[in-house]
Order: sequence, then structure tokens, then C-alpha cells
Amino acid sequence: MTDPATDLVHHPYRAPEGFDAAQTPTHRASSVFFASMADLRRRTWVDKTTYTYGLHGTPTTFVLEAQLATLEHAKHVILVPSGLSAITTIDTAFLKTGDTVLLPDNAYGPNKDFTRHELANWGIAHALYDQQDVASLAARLDDKVKLVWLEVPGSVTLEFPDLPALVRCIRERAPQAIVALDNTWGAGLAFNPFELEGGLTVDVTAHALTKYPSGGSDVLMGSIACRDDALYDTLAWTHGRLGLGVGPDDVSMVLRSLPSIALRYAAQDASCRQIATWLQGQPGVQRVLCPALPGSPGHAHWARLCTQAAGLLTIEFDARYTRDQVDAFVDALTRFRIGWSWGGAVSMVTVYQAARPRSTVLKSETADLRSLPTPYAGVLVRLCIGLEGTPDLIADLAQAWAQLPALAQA
Ligand SMILES: *Cc1c(COP(=O)(O)O)cnc(C)c1O
Repeated sequence: MTDPATDLVHHPYRAPEGFDAAQTPTHRASSVFFASMADLRRRTWVDKTTYTYGLHGTPTTFVLEAQLATLEHAKHVILVPSGLSAITTIDTAFLKTGDTVLLPDNAYGPNKDFTRHELANWGIAHALYDQQDVASLAARLDDKVKLVWLEVPGSVTLEFPDLPALVRCIRERAPQAIVALDNTWGAGLAFNPFELEGGLTVDVTAHALTKYPSGGSDVLMGSIACRDDALYDTLAWTHGRLGLGVGPDDVSMVLRSLPSIALRYAAQDASCRQIATWLQGQPGVQRVLCPALPGSPGHAHWARLCTQAAGLLTIEFDARYTRDQVDAFVDALTRFRIGWSWGGAVSMVTVYQAARPRSTVLKSETADLRSLPTPYAGVLVRLCIGLEGTPDLIADLAQAWAQLPALAQA
């Protein structure tokens, strides 16, 4: 008689084939079994036609990658543990000592931090440019530039650049450079970065699945997407060597949310535009930054590329309001919760120091930055619109607004 433990570990029962249901099963594995040593030697993880080791994918992760490739209009997708690791994996795959990377001055802050610390330590130079000014990018392109980051719109300040013009400029002046786009805001829905006007295309996108694809403020994950097979090969080998697997349980949560992403995106966009319009009429608002709102920086570029927008807006307060006063306004909100991130059901709010987002300095770059604009004098408050009723969100803003001290007529 065999030990019951052995019987359980090697139990012969297999559930019958043919189970079919809406949700993709959650396959958890570190070890994956092979039929023979010949089978083991035959398999490779990079082309994703077979299974080798849990770190390199299970049926669950492959299904999400395929769905995201459809969403992002890409051919290949790689899952990573966060949006930030999508950025750092792209940097690591395409940059080496002596190269230069360019970033927009309004890029996602941690992208600039990784550049300033790790990439600088590895002997990789960087420069910032102003995405709203193609000449500012052109002036920094030379044959050392191997990677150029784009972010549409800019982080926090949400200026919408002329994306096709930026890509055209890179292709003309630095054909050797990889063009990478942080596509978290567009989410694959607002525009197709792989088919811009005139046959222009970005090479690779990073997407924080933490935001709209998760939709629940409860999963951290990122993806890297591209169309080109050779770029995918480079990315996949770097990704595999870095050991950046994702947990199948987290993947199944994103798979559950993904079918509703287009509905949520549209609803949050519509709500955000109503709120942006209401805010424009409030006293003490210097400016409402929201690409879909006429008058917002780069609105015309947005209108040429997109019909949709993410549910994000930033209020620039009248510069006479101090940060403490604006903090008190934010503290008085009840529906908007204070914190980072966006794309979930709960509306979020964060205060940014005046002028900080666009002037956050890469320390080695002070001189370079002097030529870049810091156009925001007032305190900035970013709102991320969730799925609450729009009138309830406006009422919440109105009651907090009523607590702000009145400004003397200018
Ligand atoms: C949130 C965000 C990231 C990072 O995503 P995490 O999953 O939080 O690491 C990167 N880029 C943009 C534009 C983001 O909004």
C-alpha cells in the first residue's frame, strides 16, 4: 500500500475536458511538467508557444497578454509587476553605457527618478525636452540618443503634445533611436500609437494596468507592447533575465475587469468633461488642465488624434491661494479620496506643489532645464474621476469650494 501522502501528491483523477465558462481559469505554477527530457529541451519560453516555468507564463498570463495586444493594437505584449517596471524594463533593454535617453519634462516622475539614479549610475546620459515644442526635442537629438520617451498627455499638467510631429522629428533626426510611449492615459482607447498619421508609429508602449485595465484600485501590474518581432525579442530576453513575473491571481483580476474597460473609460471621460466645464466657472480657478476641454494646453492636438480622453483633470488655483489653503480645500472633500493613482471606481485627489511637476529637476540637468517652461504659478490639484454620479462629485467640490476664503477682486 502506498503512503496516502504519495497517493494525494500523485492522484490520478483528472477533471473531464470540456468545461467552458466566461472567465479564464487561474493557472498557478512555478514548476511546469514536461513529458520527457526531450520535451523539456525542445521548449522555449520566448515565443510563448509552450510552457517552461511559471515565471515565463501560464495559460492565464498568455490570455491577458493576447487581450492586451488587441486593446493596444500591438502584436506582442509582456506583463510586468507594475507600470513603473514596464518603463524600467524598456530602459534596461535598449540602453547601454554611453547612450543618451530623452524624456519630456512633464514625464511621470518615477521615470525621471530611475533615469537620474540607476541610468546615471550605469553611465547613461539623459536630457529633458518640452513636449509642446518640437524644436526643443529636435535640439537634443543626436546620434547618441538611443531611446526617446513620449508621454501623452504630460503627467499631472496634462498638456497634450503634437505626437505625430514628435515622432516624425525623431525618425528624421535620430533614426537609430527607439521611440517609447507611456500609453497609460490613452489606454489603447483614446488613440492608436502604432498607426499615427502618415504611417508614423511608436516602437514600444508602456501601460500601467494598475489604472484602467484593473479598474479597481487593487492590483499593481504593467505591460509592454510592440509590433516589431526583433524589438520584442530584445524586450523578452531582458524581461526574462530580470525575473519580473506576475502572479496569476492578479492577472485573473485584470482579466475580469478588462471587458468593461471601454465602458468605464467612456463614462469617466464624460463625467470628467462635465466637471472640468463646471470648474472653469468657479472663482479662484486660474486654469483647468484637461485635454478634452477647449482652451487646455494642446487641446487642438488632442482633437486631431482622439475622440476620447481619460477621466483626469488638474486645477491650477489662483496663485494668491497658498498651499495650506488648497490643502484645506482638498481635506474638505468627502467623495474624492486623497491618494495616488487613478482609473478605479473611487474618485481621487492629490495636491502638487506649484510649478513642481514641470520643473522637477534632474539634478545633472539644471542648465538644460533653465530653457524649459515652468508655466504654473498656482498650486495644482489633480482630480481622477471615478464612477460616482457626476452631480454628487460636483456637489462635493462645491461644498469644499465654499470653504475657501474669498479672493479680493483682482
Ligand atoms: C501610474 C502610472 C505609472 C506607473 O504605474 P504603477 O503600476 O503605479 O507603477 C506609469 N506611468 C503613468 C503615466 C502612470 O500614470
